Amino acid sequence: MSKKRRLVYNGHYGVAGEEAQCLWCGRLTTEHAFVVNPGGTPVLKCCCEGHYELTEEFIERDSRIRPIFYVVIGALCLASALSMWLEFSPVWSSLPLVGIAAAILVWPRVLPRYEYYLPLGLVRTRKVVRVIACALLAFSLVVTAARFGLIPG
Ligand SMILES: [Zn+2]
Repeated sequence: MSKKRRLVYNGHYGVAGEEAQCLWCGRLTTEHAFVVNPGGTPVLKCCCEGHYELTEEFIERDSRIRPIFYVVIGALCLASALSMWLEFSPVWSSLPLVGIAAAILVWPRVLPRYEYYLPLGLVRTRKVVRVIACALLAFSLVVTAARFGLIPG
């Protein structure tokens, strides 16, 4: 059996010496005392107790709000699709996009799996998502303003 595959977990403990990124800050760490998903692959762990607690809190809140977030985004996507499907694009057709951008700005947790946060860590990934949402919001607001004749289109 290869040594790599022999992951033996003991409660929240990972494999000693195994290097991975901290889920919270993205820093490489060999720390193995703060595993978020004992026994899971890939191992999601944190570099210190502080980051472990923040990550636990994040996941706890995330699992409560995520369903609501998806319902909101789903409804807005539906409204957006409906407005495009209508023969005459209504003036409000860009409003769902404003809503989507605003929702992501408030709740920048669009990634469906926690391991997707690993390359940058939770903190920086959220910042990047927020920057993109900001740009999208600005763009959709300009489009909306033009639609309503507030600025020349
Ligand atoms: Zn960390």
